[in-house]
Amino acid sequence: MKSRKLLMIPGPIEFEPEVLSALGQPTTSHVAPNFIQSFGNALRMMREVWLAPTSQPFIMAGTGTLAMDMAGSNLIEKGDKVLVISTGYFGARYAELLARYGAEVTFLQSEIGDVVPLEIIEEELKIGHYKLLTFTHVDTSTAVMVDPKPIGELAQKYHVLSVLDGVCSVAGEEIRQEEWGIDVVLTASQKAIGVPPGLALMVVSEKAMNVWKNRKSPVANYYSDWTNWLPIMQAYEAGNPSYFGTPAVNLVMALEKSLEIILAEGMDARFARHQLMAKAFREAIKALGLTSIPFDDQVSAATLSAPFYPSGMKGGEFLNQVNKEGVILAGGLLPEIKGDYFRIGHMGSINRADTLATISAIEEALRKGGHPFEMGAGIKAAQQVLS
Ligand code: PMP
Repeated sequence: MKSRKLLMIPGPIEFEPEVLSALGQPTTSHVAPNFIQSFGNALRMMREVWLAPTSQPFIMAGTGTLAMDMAGSNLIEKGDKVLVISTGYFGARYAELLARYGAEVTFLQSEIGDVVPLEIIEEELKIGHYKLLTFTHVDTSTAVMVDPKPIGELAQKYHVLSVLDGVCSVAGEEIRQEEWGIDVVLTASQKAIGVPPGLALMVVSEKAMNVWKNRKSPVANYYSDWTNWLPIMQAYEAGNPSYFGTPAVNLVMALEKSLEIILAEGMDARFARHQLMAKAFREAIKALGLTSIPFDDQVSAATLSAPFYPSGMKGGEFLNQVNKEGVILAGGLLPEIKGDYFRIGHMGSINRADTLATISAIEEALRKGGHPFEMGAGIKAAQQVLS
């Protein structure tokens, strides 16, 4: 019997075998011609995945938080006014991070499991004289999905730079960076991009690059400074050797493979597959008699679901039981409700079989935990969506 378990947390996720074998290639020099080509290919493909044909991609060794840090440190100078639109844990992180660089942060926090209404955002933008706003596409702590398009439009209307934390969304949720006028879309490798943890990725608009070029003060973070990294990205894309800090050679080769797989599927097909899998999970969860956040399907993520445990069920025991059934799920993250809910990641390479196996493991753990429901109801509801 295979001993492996199905990893269904909101990152890291299950990775495609071709990506893992690209990762396992012999490590080459970071200035070897084949590596320069892989790095250049990955940069070019990022523009296609982000739907940002004229913007500047960056590939860095690091995590999603480094991508947040890099956007913040390069675009913020002391005293700049920033609007942070938060739908959970990661919005709060962005506010704290930006304050370190001297930003004057106004924090707009949604109700738990909901978005901040657009009218409230517009009211702030009208009066606030902001330089920049940040928002989280999918907050992984609440599974709330914010529609980036109207916020991108508002940012343009009020001449504010926009930064989208797409760590739990890029290559899963629909993003059309340039069409929607979003200046920075950032992510990490371990989620819907489909590469093991260790890369911070972002694509930056020409407008944001110009704001950075016209800074009055040096970037307060030496490692993240685009002065150090822009020439490296440009050199790799032009096919030339270059060095500032050693790139994560094997991860970049794996990224090249994963971006090829993503583009071979096609962005629209990929967005649609994520929607379908999410709907299957949502219907299954409802059929099992569980509630989830967000309360409204309209703002529910395509990349993860966040159901509440049935009342009286101990979360730790439930997750252990699901694990025994062969599936790994995640506990809650938002401090206010941490012990009350769990999270299922459904992004990247997820397919029908993963979905049904996960629901089956959840059903078995619910049954063993004494939750009353009709066994098979979740599977049936999911199958109805999937067929
Ligand atoms: N933003 C969001 C929405 C995330 O889900 C995460 C990671 N779960 C991060 C930022 C931070 O990314 P990392 O853990 O890779 O630093």
